[in-house]
Amino acid sequence: MFDFNNKVAIVTGSGSKKGIGIATADMLARLGATVVICDLNQKDIDDNVKAIIESGGKALGLKLDVTDENSVNEMVDKVLSEYGHIDILVNVAGISQKITVEYMELEDMKRIFNVNMYGVFLCTKAVLKIMKKQKYGRIITVSSVAGKRGGGIFGGPHYSASKAAVLGFSKNLAREVAGEGITVNCVTPGLIETDIAKTLNEKEVGLLVKDIPMGRRGKTYEVAGAIAFLASDEASYITGEEIDINGGSHM
Ligand code: NAD
Repeated sequence: MFDFNNKVAIVTGSGSKKGIGIATADMLARLGATVVICDLNQKDIDDNVKAIIESGGKALGLKLDVTDENSVNEMVDKVLSEYGHIDILVNVAGISQKITVEYMELEDMKRIFNVNMYGVFLCTKAVLKIMKKQKYGRIITVSSVAGKRGGGIFGGPHYSASKAAVLGFSKNLAREVAGEGITVNCVTPGLIETDIAKTLNEKEVGLLVKDIPMGRRGKTYEVAGAIAFLASDEASYITGEEIDINGGSHM
């Protein structure tokens, strides 16, 4: 079960120390995958690659800006020339902003969509032709409970909109490539213990947690576990699906 030996997995947004990206890359590496750690900051990438290699895993670090098509294509080309195949893409890179519609400018909306939606599109498009040729691929996107029920103070309205867009994109693509050996699925986490919501104060986090039936925030490995399942060979008949990981906050 869940053997990722000989699988190459790109995980975008895997540079942060405590994020969902590195938790996912770490889990896939422990299960045998060669993981590509990519993010904006080279030092963060290097630290995370070192940590994975020190724990016996296989990892390559590449700088990536998901909003820049050249950067995306360069990263994908490097992975392909290094390993000859790309089996898994996990689109984790994302940003949020604590703001309300009243104070939001169009530029805020564009900045969030640029990373959260257009970045997913660019990375997905870049691996798709390779996966089609291989007749094998696993694409996993990270949406959010905010995209399904609104995130309130978490993320902002543009964040919720971008995450709803990611969900629709994933389902459409799943239909487009069904029958070509490629599955496309989405995870929709609730409030997870990472730095993304660090602008929220204790009181605001408390209010959000009060709304979670399990009474706590999720851990990054709890999201990584669902992603690893969707990326596995065992999930071969699952596509266009979404897995909620939210402690019951949206049933
Ligand atoms: P995080 O801030 O730890 O990770 C996000 C990563 O994306 C960072 O390392 C950041 O540098 C990277 N990134 C941002 N812009 C980028 C760009 N242009 N190119 C490449 N990388 C870029 O936060 P996280 O909580 O681990 O978030 C990971 C994903 O999970 C995001 O898409 C987020 O929206 C989603 N999510 C998080 C939560 C939560 O509660 N933490 C809930 C639902 C969904």
